[in-house]
Amino acid sequence: MEIKQFKPRYIYRFGRAQADGDGSMGEELGGKGAALAEMTKMGLPVPPGFTISCNACRYYLEHGDIPESLDAELEAALGWLELEQVQWLGSENDPLLLSVRSGAAVSMPGMMDTILNVGINDANVSGLAAKHGNVQFALDSYRRLLQMFGSVVLEIPKQAFDRAVEDARVLPKPAAHFDEMTLRKIIAAFQKVIEQTTGSPFPMNPRAQLRQAVEAVFQSWNNERARHYRRIHGIPENSGTAVTVQAMVFGNYGLNSGTGVGFTRNPSTGEREMFAEFLPNAQGEDIVAGIRTPMPIAELERTMNPVYRRLHSVTSKLECHYRDVQDFEFTVQNGELFLLQTRSAKRSALAKLRCAVEMVEEGLISRREALERVAPADIDEILAQQLDLRDDSLKPMAKGLAASPGSAVGQLALTADRAIELAGKHKQSPIILVRQETTADDIHGMDAAVGFLTAHGGATSHAAVVARGMGKCCITGASGIFADEGAGVLRIGEHILKEGDWLSLDGSTGRVFPGQLPLRGSESFDNPHLTKLLSWARECSTTKVRANADTPQDAMRARDASAVGIGLCRTEHMFFAKERLAHIRSMILASTLAAREEALALLLPVQQSDFEALFHAMPGLPVTIRLIDPPLHEFLPSEMAVRDELAQARLRETGSQEVVQLEELLTRVQQLSESNPMLGLRGCRLGIVHPEILVVQIKAILQAALRVKGGGVEVLPEIMVPLVACVEEVRHLRKLIEDTASAVFHQQGRRIDYRIGVMIELPRAAVCAEEIAREVDFMSFGTNDLTQLTFGFSRDDAHKYLDAYLELGILKHNPFLTIDREGVGSLIEMAVGRARAANPKIKIGICGEHGGDPASIAFFESVGVDYVSCSPARIPIAQLSAAQTSLAREPIKHRDQEGVTGIAISAPVIATVDDDEPFELQSYGT
Ligand code: ADP
Ligand code: MG
Ligand code: MG
Repeated sequence: MEIKQFKPRYIYRFGRAQADGDGSMGEELGGKGAALAEMTKMGLPVPPGFTISCNACRYYLEHGDIPESLDAELEAALGWLELEQVQWLGSENDPLLLSVRSGAAVSMPGMMDTILNVGINDANVSGLAAKHGNVQFALDSYRRLLQMFGSVVLEIPKQAFDRAVEDARVLPKPAAHFDEMTLRKIIAAFQKVIEQTTGSPFPMNPRAQLRQAVEAVFQSWNNERARHYRRIHGIPENSGTAVTVQAMVFGNYGLNSGTGVGFTRNPSTGEREMFAEFLPNAQGEDIVAGIRTPMPIAELERTMNPVYRRLHSVTSKLECHYRDVQDFEFTVQNGELFLLQTRSAKRSALAKLRCAVEMVEEGLISRREALERVAPADIDEILAQQLDLRDDSLKPMAKGLAASPGSAVGQLALTADRAIELAGKHKQSPIILVRQETTADDIHGMDAAVGFLTAHGGATSHAAVVARGMGKCCITGASGIFADEGAGVLRIGEHILKEGDWLSLDGSTGRVFPGQLPLRGSESFDNPHLTKLLSWARECSTTKVRANADTPQDAMRARDASAVGIGLCRTEHMFFAKERLAHIRSMILASTLAAREEALALLLPVQQSDFEALFHAMPGLPVTIRLIDPPLHEFLPSEMAVRDELAQARLRETGSQEVVQLEELLTRVQQLSESNPMLGLRGCRLGIVHPEILVVQIKAILQAALRVKGGGVEVLPEIMVPLVACVEEVRHLRKLIEDTASAVFHQQGRRIDYRIGVMIELPRAAVCAEEIAREVDFMSFGTNDLTQLTFGFSRDDAHKYLDAYLELGILKHNPFLTIDREGVGSLIEMAVGRARAANPKIKIGICGEHGGDPASIAFFESVGVDYVSCSPARIPIAQLSAAQTSLAREPIKHRDQEGVTGIAISAPVIATVDDDEPFELQSYGT
């Protein structure tokens, strides 16, 4: 059909394999409208219709009325649709019926409104019945129109309609079972409700119905739940919704009809299997609302096999076309399949990961795309703690569908409002929201909860979809439970739980346990898909990821996570074990140099064996060991504790040996006390004042290295001097290190390569990076201290004012978590530039919490550091972030052939799917 242009254009049509718009026009047509146009162009079975663009909605919201030219456009589009369908709106024998659907650019499932069956009235309902030879269908459609129009357009509370159904003396059975008599009674009752509540009768004029429905959809952009959803998801307030007006197809036509929703892959686990649910003899909203629990798609495969095969074929085609997992809605009218919607599926983090990796292996997407499809936060979620179910005696009290993975341990709330109340202002208490089913009205309570449990609904119900979107754990369809909101209790068999009682959900198996079960962390290498994705990440990132590891155990974890070295080993953390603390205390308390050296001699073998273990864990990889950093008083008890102990000892016996020792300790503690220990005798200053401590550490490092190397393992020791401010400190300590090394090598008769570096933590050192760089092989920014000292914010006390700063917007984010680009970041950038100019061979790294923060990593990569170093648990996130940042700088070469820099490109063998050959598809599924 020739498509005439309107100007200014608000309306875009789709029908008969042609469309004005296409899939790229989400901004104007909304995700739904764009996808309907795209599917139409692909030749898929989509009922024809047209989409009124978001621009019209914006105009409407601004001016309170539709734009002037829209009326004429609407008439023209309607005329076109009538010709397409060969049906007329308001005709008495064979009326055109329409759905009026909302759909914004960013999908907000179920948040706005849709009205079905627009166009029925008293005058044409019997014509409709006669035309289809199906009275029940015609009456059921009319009843649905009255109810949806009543609640959405006329804003009549849903309960009014529920009451009317009861008054019609009908059991509140699923609507599909109403007989003709009952339907007639309900229709009359609904019309009465409308007239009584609004003061005017239901509009019998189909054009008036259409016009009011369109305006109601525009207005639904601003309903409370949509606004709340946008706040939670950071969707802009002013983009507006499109409205799609589409010819109806009927799933409520009898048992050979129905409606369903599904995913091309399992949205919870990511497994490659069509995952869908179907409700026979129903219209769409029944399924999403979770009122009726649908049947699994295998049932459709059994009862309507050709429809099932066509659905499989069509949706596989969609997945190939969009090169992503699709979430689709469909309706079957009398054995004929229609698609009503498709979009990229919301899925759990686990599913995102698995789909991304498997789609690369299938040749559907590139490694680059896979790396871009998983967010660092998803990894957090995948590695989140799981219920510790190792105790075999644990018995679940209920079981439902595993609708969204993960686990949740929290206190029971039975309504959204209670969930908010119990969670507290800052969501400090974990809450599990338990409902018979959730609806879009519960969204604020779902936001406050950590997990959801519902009695009804399938894996595509509202609760399940929202949970996967929010990354929360969810169990649906737990048929044995009854959430008795009125009585304020949850009944599960003989268990009765009150609001506030604890329960635990295992979202991966659908099991519900009473009480507060313990949690345990999981490791990245437990998940083969994550292991693979991260191996691709490492291959394409220019910034490498090392680990902060203080103990041999940390080093093993770091190696298992494929860290490419240790970027920071804080030697003092090795001293905190009890027997070692005793040695270091006697070293600190020693009053003569000889006594101190004696105590240090005891420490030497202990440190050396720790270092040996670190080198063993990192064969062939650099291991950066920082010389002692904290003020010595950190190893001593507090003055108050010593005074207490002394007082008690004196009570027991004055002048005893114990009392004398405690008096000595007190004196030493007082001597070491400083007004500003963070700015005190610590870092390199400590080593300059007490070189004997450093000498022992340097010996321990180099002797360990020689020993491990002697055993045939390659070692790369790096000795790092902390908290330097000026180049003279560096020169002084470098000499100490080199002299000690010479002595060790001389004594052992062997030598080894090692590097000397500094930690840049003081603004002065950053400014003087040029001079310092000439003296060292590497430098590593200690961003925690650098942030503390640049802002002058004490790391230990800043929380007292940081909250206020964040709330007032004085700071946009906590600078101890995400690097402050303007201040601290500028210092780093300047220092990197100066250091590289002075010493082109220098290696530059980052250690400190920021090394595991995605936003900070992006910044570090942009200033050109060689590596970041973070705690072993953050390594997977850092590896992915580093890859994503590197990729973001690489231009995309060719969409289908984009591999990852430096590694083989997987061949783009996109499966071709033939509509008429459903059997080929079976093999596509394996
Ligand atoms: P939502 O954004 O809430 O999913 P939709 O516009 O997708 O709203 O409509 C909800 C349901 O209404 C759909 O899943 C579908 O089953 C049904 N529906 C919408 N349009 C039609 C139509 N033209 N024919 C039959 N059913 C429809
Ligand atoms: Mg929909
Ligand atoms: Mg420091």
